[in-house]
Formats: sequence, C-alpha cells, structure tokens
Amino acid sequence: MYSRTQNENGSYNTRCLDCFMTIAFCVETDEELDRLEVHHVCPEKALAGLLAREKSIASKSLSN
Ligand SMILES: [Zn+2]
Repeated sequence: MYSRTQNENGSYNTRCLDCFMTIAFCVETDEELDRLEVHHVCPEKALAGLLAREKSIASKSLSN
C-alpha cells in the first residue's frame, strides 16, 4: 500500500504505508511512481516474513 500526494508544482511524492518511508518525492509521472513503488524493498514486510518463517520453524521443532 502506498500513499501518493501531489506537490504544489504538480509533481508527486509516494510513501509506503507499511514502513512509513517516503520512497520518492518530486516524481513527474504515474509511470515513474509505479516503477519506484515496485522497487521498494519494504523492511516491515521483510521483517514480517522473517518472523513468520521463524514461527513455522519453531512450531515444527516443537512437534518433533
Ligand atoms: Zn515499506
């Protein structure tokens, strides 16, 4: 999820709603926003994935 805001000069900023990091500012076009958002590696999502994996490893070792 990303939050896009428009600047007074018509350019855009985009911010990730998961980690609240500003990914880009003063971007001119929608295409560029799409490209930048796709390339954002979200630390929050990475952390959530890591925790989920650790949990599944922990539950496996408990059942053994
Ligand atoms: Zn993020």
